[in-house]
Amino acid sequence: MDQNSPTIYQVAVPVPLRRLFDYTSHLELNPGQRVLIPFGKREIVGIVISKAASSEFKKIRSVKAALDDSTVFTEQIRDLLEWASRYYHHPIGEVLSAAMPVLLRQPISMPGPKKELFYSRIVARKGSPADDVSKLLKSAPAQKKLYDLLAEDKVLSPVELNNAYPGWRAAAKGLIQKGLIKKLEKLQPSGSGSSGPPKLKLTDEQQLAADQIINKLGGFHSFILQGITGSGKTEVYLEAAKRCIKNGKQVLFLVPEISLTPQLVSRVRQHLGLRVYSMHSGMSDKERYQSWWMAKNGLATALLGTRSAVFTWLQNPGLIIVDEEHDQSYKQQDGFRYHARDLAIKRASLEQIPIVLGSATPSFESLHNANAARHRLLKLRKRVGKAKLPEIEIIDTNTYPLDNGICLPVVKAIDSVLARNEQVIVYINRRGYAPVVHCYDCGWQAVCQQCAARLTYHQHRKQFRCHHCGHRERFIEQCPECDTALYFAGAGTQRIEETLASKFPDARFCRLDRDQANTTRKLYQQLDLIQKRQVDVIVGTQLITKGHDFAGVSLVCVVNADQGLFSVDFRAPEIMFQQLLQVSGRAGRAEGNGKVLIQTAHPGNPYIQMLTQHDYVRFSDASLIEREQTSYPPYAYFALFRAESPDFNAAATLLNQTATIARQFIQQQNLSQVEVFSPIPSPMEKLAGRFRLQLLIRSQIRKQLHQLLGPLSLSVEAQKAPRSVRWSLDVDPMDMG
Ligand code: ADP
Ligand code: ZN
Ligand code: ZN
Repeated sequence: MDQNSPTIYQVAVPVPLRRLFDYTSHLELNPGQRVLIPFGKREIVGIVISKAASSEFKKIRSVKAALDDSTVFTEQIRDLLEWASRYYHHPIGEVLSAAMPVLLRQPISMPGPKKELFYSRIVARKGSPADDVSKLLKSAPAQKKLYDLLAEDKVLSPVELNNAYPGWRAAAKGLIQKGLIKKLEKLQPSGSGSSGPPKLKLTDEQQLAADQIINKLGGFHSFILQGITGSGKTEVYLEAAKRCIKNGKQVLFLVPEISLTPQLVSRVRQHLGLRVYSMHSGMSDKERYQSWWMAKNGLATALLGTRSAVFTWLQNPGLIIVDEEHDQSYKQQDGFRYHARDLAIKRASLEQIPIVLGSATPSFESLHNANAARHRLLKLRKRVGKAKLPEIEIIDTNTYPLDNGICLPVVKAIDSVLARNEQVIVYINRRGYAPVVHCYDCGWQAVCQQCAARLTYHQHRKQFRCHHCGHRERFIEQCPECDTALYFAGAGTQRIEETLASKFPDARFCRLDRDQANTTRKLYQQLDLIQKRQVDVIVGTQLITKGHDFAGVSLVCVVNADQGLFSVDFRAPEIMFQQLLQVSGRAGRAEGNGKVLIQTAHPGNPYIQMLTQHDYVRFSDASLIEREQTSYPPYAYFALFRAESPDFNAAATLLNQTATIARQFIQQQNLSQVEVFSPIPSPMEKLAGRFRLQLLIRSQIRKQLHQLLGPLSLSVEAQKAPRSVRWSLDVDPMDMG
């Protein structure tokens, strides 16, 4: 080749097109390297995929600059992402971009890590013996407390100090003045710092499960850890993680978004040491980049993160843990619609390391895979220590009338729990005051003009709010049609809180829903109040169901169990059962015997019956048979094309064309196991002024589905639908709305 002629590179660009773009450069660029490229009139960040011998295009633009010396993905992660792009039929440029730290989506070179501030004692010099210190601290209890926290060779960061001692800053000032402690700037704490809590002796069940995982460190193996709530799954993960770290390898620990609380981080740090870094949406781009950098350079022993942490570069990965693997939040619901659990399994196989999927209520997909021997099933059947599973009692709302959402036996039960100074969780999967506001006289209803949905009444701001598009309007007391006083039907968190507050005026309440805890910080503050037992009654949505370990809660009341029983979504019973068992699992986790009360109008429903027995196994076995008989996932494979537009017909046309093309492909390629349904309006027909439709494709064989989706997605992309139409493809959709 001519020495002066530049090399052609194929570059992935973050645009919604399923192809690569050719650029030239005189630089020697490696796959996975970020480059600055001209694209249209802009300059954007692309990722080099490969060299090309030639290009079909005559005029090729050249790479402006290489942004870093090194790549941003390892070979395994690149393989994972290219696989994901094919599996989800999503444009590779968008996939790679979604998998990078947000900071690196900007055209800047990879920054170095930030040093952090730490505090430690000044080691006692000669002439300042210990009794000098105690003299200096005699009348300063706050300073003494901090000094004790920094005992021996402890080097603590502000975050840790905040957790251990919220008022430490003033004390630190005093101690620095007295020359007893110092600030120092470092990349990270020295030593592992794993102080280790008083070590718990694992139960036999826990030890057995941990040993099986430990035995397989060093190769790909996938485990399901099915352990009832409070059986100590976390302890099992940590035992295996500890061994992995001892072997010099790193742990990737995924948790659902709202379980990643400071309590969890400090619990994991206590076991695994201070070099555990976290990554979640409550952190700034810079903070997340810092964690990424520490993992990439092997300075993090473990990375504790939510969904997108599955893409994090680990210098030396050794184990992946996915806690609450059934959780819906692992599925990305827009853009690149991946499932982090499924990608974690793929990643483990590419990295040749074991993966543990833990849950009290594993997803049907995972159970199905365990039945097919693709996962090894590990079980924890008992709660740790004296704690027993709570007794679940059904309250028939046909027998006991509801008073503002709550019936008498529930009120009585709360009363006796409060008398014992224990805590209560009241669970209702609906925020706001009342979900339905209507006129009894003429039938008028408060509905959103932009969505096919009712408006929810929010009492604090005296507003009607749409929970789908965010629309708000002023509340009116009288029917706009006939002037009759409006009627509130149903109850949300606000109404339940109001009802109970009027019955228990002395109790301390906390409402935990997306209105109240609208930032991560506020959520953490509230969880902290619960932990410290500064509230008695917690009224909340799913926010309180996940993983939390509240020792003071002995009663859980479920306001309404019936929502999941009659939904159009085939997954609704599975989700309902998982949520109710999860929330029930919050009761009686410490010594006491917990109790759960479930209000339902359908006490004879077989699902409800299985729930009272805590019998997830019988429930999942029965449901899996039903799914098999009706050819639903995990026995068949779904893909959903969605289209939306302010113009119903434009969206419908696109999906009709898509269906026609799909049927042609199926015939041509003889994909006998694939079915194309007719396009239909989505269950949520209209959202924010846009009509929504969907087209379901089902296959009995996964391979045939992909044989269709590849060319089909390209042809939809090429269709040049009107600009108003947005479309997307969702492979293995979790939400059929
Ligand atoms: P799960 O995640 O299975 O619901 P956790 O791991 O949160 O359960 O454990 C529940 C509680 O039991 C925690 O407070 C934990 O500290 C405690 N625990 C777990 N294992 C043991 C053990 N072997 N001995 C004593 N306490 C334990
Ligand atoms: Zn009216
Ligand atoms: Zn709306």
